[in-house]
Amino acid sequence: MRERLFNFSAGPAILPESVLKKAQGALWNLDGTGIGILEHSHRGSAFVKVLEETEANCRELAGIGDDYNVLFLQGGASTQFFMMPMNWLSAETTGDYIHTGTWSKNAIKEAKLFGKVHVVASSEEAGFNYIPRSSELRWSDGAAYAHYTSNNTIVGTQYDYVPEPPKGTALICDASSDIFSREVDFNKHAMVYAGAQKNLGPSGLALIVIRKDLVERGNDKLTTMLQYRTHANNDSCFNTPPTFGIYIMGEVFKWIKEQGGLRAVAEVNTAKANLLYSFLDESEMFTGTARADSRSQMNVTFLAKTPELSAQFIKEANSMGLPGLAGHRSVGGMRASIYNAFPLEGVQALVEAMKSFETKNR
Ligand SMILES: *Cc1c(COP(=O)(O)O)cnc(C)c1O
Repeated sequence: MRERLFNFSAGPAILPESVLKKAQGALWNLDGTGIGILEHSHRGSAFVKVLEETEANCRELAGIGDDYNVLFLQGGASTQFFMMPMNWLSAETTGDYIHTGTWSKNAIKEAKLFGKVHVVASSEEAGFNYIPRSSELRWSDGAAYAHYTSNNTIVGTQYDYVPEPPKGTALICDASSDIFSREVDFNKHAMVYAGAQKNLGPSGLALIVIRKDLVERGNDKLTTMLQYRTHANNDSCFNTPPTFGIYIMGEVFKWIKEQGGLRAVAEVNTAKANLLYSFLDESEMFTGTARADSRSQMNVTFLAKTPELSAQFIKEANSMGLPGLAGHRSVGGMRASIYNAFPLEGVQALVEAMKSFETKNR
């Protein structure tokens, strides 16, 4: 068996091997400074350079202009679920939410603590197996913001379009599980946020790209740490930021640039996903669970003919060095998470394993 496995985990998830190797060295001695990345002051020049480079590469890769802040905050994506409504909702104002799975459900639950919530569309009646089409979206008038989840990590669905709320409504995207996996027009959004542990780095850290007017509009009576302006005004260094996570994210950005940028990684991601979906479409043993027009390129969800066969396949795949294929505990079945850093050879190995399982259990 290989020293490192093809890890299909949904998150924390596989990272580029070259990044991990470089980080090993940086733990010991960052760029010849004689001090490791974990030990550098967040105010010192060595870390400030890391932070500035990370932000610059983020902006370059995604085409993010000066009218946006790029923030590196703690608390993962889930902290954003309550920070958004705390900043922009009140008893009189509404947040619009498109409901496409567990993560939007969690976001909606938090928003209801601070203001009104309007569900623009929901795929709940179909077990969230699809993304509502733009013609199905029923926006409210004058919502403070509109929120969607670009990739639904648990049910394996992904938008192939950017929703367009009425003019004046700030569009916010939870892109935790597909950020930087393809080209996206950040300028159509007032805010895009993502927990790092799927496509960008270690857990606990969140990347937030936020338009400056939205920062300014935030409630200024909140505790300091929960106001976006605190972090915007202090370059994410109001308190000690998660320095190691920012370092890793910066190295992941460099790696994406080496691959040729977002368009190049998107091509590879499409090739990986197509390989798996075309096998699923042919197979008599396995079926994909997401509606064909809503399939995720990041999390491919599928079932075997019976729950027993699913369980058996997960077990056999695991013993072949293909771990992490069990579906989320809320939905069962299988889920192959094939984020940016997941190699094509790993998808090929999975398809081979599925083929031989199918032959053996005919
Ligand atoms: C994983 C995930 C989250 C939660 O992230 P945490 O960092 O654990 O809070 C939120 N939204 C989506 C779409 C996710 O995939």
